[in-house]
Amino acid sequence: MASKDVPPLNVIIVGAGIGGLAAAVALRQQGHQVRLYEKSGFSHEVGAAITLNPNVVGLLERLGVDVDQHGADKEGGLRYYSHKGDLVFKANRQTESAATRYIHRVDLHSALRVAAINQEAEINLKSHIETLDPKTRSITLASGDVLEADVLIGADGMHSFTRQFISQEHSKAMPFGKSTFRFLVPMDRVAADPRAKCFAVKDPISRIWDDKEGRRIVTYPCRSNSELNILVLHPEELRERISSDKTPKQQMLELCSDFNNDVLALLALADDEVLEWRLFDLPALPTWCSGRLALLGDAAHPLLPYAAQGGAQAIEDAVTLSVLLHKGTLPGDVPERLKLYFDARHQRAEYVQQFARTQGAARPGQKEVPDDGAWHEFFKKIFSHDAWGHAEEVLKHSKS
Ligand SMILES: Cc1cc2nc3c(=O)[nH]c(=O)nc-3n(C[C@H](O)[C@H](O)[C@H](O)COP(=O)(O)OP(=O)(O)OC[C@H]3O[C@@H](n4cnc5c(N)ncnc54)[C@H](O)[C@@H]3O)c2cc1C
Repeated sequence: MASKDVPPLNVIIVGAGIGGLAAAVALRQQGHQVRLYEKSGFSHEVGAAITLNPNVVGLLERLGVDVDQHGADKEGGLRYYSHKGDLVFKANRQTESAATRYIHRVDLHSALRVAAINQEAEINLKSHIETLDPKTRSITLASGDVLEADVLIGADGMHSFTRQFISQEHSKAMPFGKSTFRFLVPMDRVAADPRAKCFAVKDPISRIWDDKEGRRIVTYPCRSNSELNILVLHPEELRERISSDKTPKQQMLELCSDFNNDVLALLALADDEVLEWRLFDLPALPTWCSGRLALLGDAAHPLLPYAAQGGAQAIEDAVTLSVLLHKGTLPGDVPERLKLYFDARHQRAEYVQQFARTQGAARPGQKEVPDDGAWHEFFKKIFSHDAWGHAEEVLKHSKS
């Protein structure tokens, strides 16, 4: 059958997060029928900003997602300091073709959602997947409805339900022993503070303060430099030193009381209700696919936030899948193509997972010397990669 006569694949995606939405857009571009099932109603989207490094900016453009139209800020550089505020190194996360961006997670999500809707992907909200049968490629919703497809994609995040159908041994992400406070402060509030105003600068910059106890503070702006995004990563065991009857904000301030005074003034600008995230990790899975079921994003390779690559790697997965399941793919060819997808992606995703793990490994009492050599090597390996082109090469050299 000529490829133009082959009917499109009928694809079901579980989860409409960053990876699921990107996969929906990319697979619709190949002409496939795409239905997304998302358990939430998107009415209480939370989360602060995320960094989009050069390896994903170009991919988003090719998916028709212009993040600059959604308030993304172009990075003017990265500064890495000791916790006392001494500059350790500066870096530029820019390649010849793209610069790093900062974007509010909700803005990225809505940009992807608009692209998916424009591509006529079907998005079903408040649709919790309760069971899944890889053999019949069917899912059962909480409503009892059973839906079948040619291809099932599990894009259901860190605490994936679909993962158990691929790997029973490592199906649950485990606590990493660290947590992060995470919040935004309006930039005019930063500018009005006598000590913190040094962080209200015109050029969007990412700053990291690291210490030997495993604490790390990260800041960068978002929403056209109108808000400052702040993360305070820390080992959970340090919390034992702090009385638990304090508010999360008081705990955060006490936890970081020996950091540079300007940084402390910045943390003091947080609202009382600072949100806290526990970090989870999972060893590399032996595979991400079984028959016509595949995992992508955090479901396949949960990523700690130390490499700022979780969303990016999910989008690289999505693009790779769409190239390998290009228009004209026969349902019978899908299992081989999904194996090819795993082969094309897993080493890179595992490398990023391991880099993030190493960056986040420091525990109290450990001597952690910031290693700019390791960062620069990581940037070189990760930022100039073209996942789209790589998938095309993999397909060209495959027998299927
Ligand atoms: C503190 C922190 C900072 C981060 N910073 C960055 C950064 O700077 N840059 C970066 O690239 N990444 C960053 N990340 C990582 C990034 O957020 C994740 O890697 C990314 O969101 C993964 O996308 P995903 O689509 O795989 O999963 P998710 O975005 O988690 O989406 C999964 C979706 O599946 C849905 N779902 C789950 N179960 C079901 C079910 N049974 N039925 C139906 N739907 C279901 C969920 O509701 C959710 O919408 C950070 C993460 C954290 C925690």
